[in-house]
Amino acid sequence: MANRKCKLLRNIARPCDTLTRSLHNSDLGVTEKFIFDFKSGAAVYSVFVLHSGQFRKKGIVLNFCPFCGMAIFKQPAKGDVT
Ligand SMILES: [Zn+2]
Repeated sequence: MANRKCKLLRNIARPCDTLTRSLHNSDLGVTEKFIFDFKSGAAVYSVFVLHSGQFRKKGIVLNFCPFCGMAIFKQPAKGDVT
């Protein structure tokens, strides 16, 4: 089933097809990272990081998908991540 738009479910982003393809192509410089709650062992946040230009090493977190425009990151509230 085609996934045309990214979805943000409980702070975990489910990427659209185009963003998924860019994750699988390492030449494009997009990676997915997870933030885990060590008490439960579950992923509580996901972030997509773009490595390009002067930010090739550290990368920058994408707040919105560059392909479909949907929000893919929600800033953690105080107390969400310890
Ligand atoms: Zn997308």
